[in-house]
Amino acid sequence: LAHREARGRLRSRLVVLAGPTAVGKGTVSAHIRDNYPDVHLSISATTRSPRPGEVDGVHYYFVDDAEFDRMIRDRELLEYATVHNSYRYGTPRPPIDAALHEGRSVLLEIDLQGARLVRVAMPEAVLVFLLPPTWDELVRRLIGRGTEDAAEQQRRLETAKVELAAQDEFDVKVVNHDVAEAAREVVELMTASDDARPRD
Ligand code: 5GP
Repeated sequence: LAHREARGRLRSRLVVLAGPTAVGKGTVSAHIRDNYPDVHLSISATTRSPRPGEVDGVHYYFVDDAEFDRMIRDRELLEYATVHNSYRYGTPRPPIDAALHEGRSVLLEIDLQGARLVRVAMPEAVLVFLLPPTWDELVRRLIGRGTEDAAEQQRRLETAKVELAAQDEFDVKVVNHDVAEAAREVVELMTASDDARPRD
């Protein structure tokens, strides 16, 4: 990473935030979206339905299978994957190119398969793996948020085990003890350290 750091604070970067289910990727990403307005947080397209409180165009673009197929066909997705053996998720490419062109850094919050695809499509991307403090803490967070039924929780924990085993493929590991601290560590990868202060 040293050579990337040396290019200084004006370099815009593509950072991929991945990690196991319920580790807090969404919370860390939302914290960055709300506190670091210069960072462009990519909004994924997905074929799953919105959860209560999720807004189309803010949390995801909620699309049907036909529209997702069209996006693939028209090469609008930087990467896409079927996640947890159920729904499809993909990263729209045009907004990312536009943000990088404007000199903004871009954050993608995607799954492990997506991170691997981005590594190939954009080798200059920095891949960050968000880790839970402990496995028990991960299980506690997944059950505690209560957004999945028991069968889905079990499926996601199986995926999480496989995903944790892949952490050494990543450029950087960040432990999510504290959301604001983890967010700051991620943003520091995009900018010089003295430029990585949240705006108030
Ligand atoms: P959720 O349904 O809980 O919002 O997300 C499920 C999983 O899909 C998470 O691991 C999330 O990181 C991943 N995900 C969200 N957007 C994308 C995307 O655009 N591409 C890929 N590959 N995974 C995504």
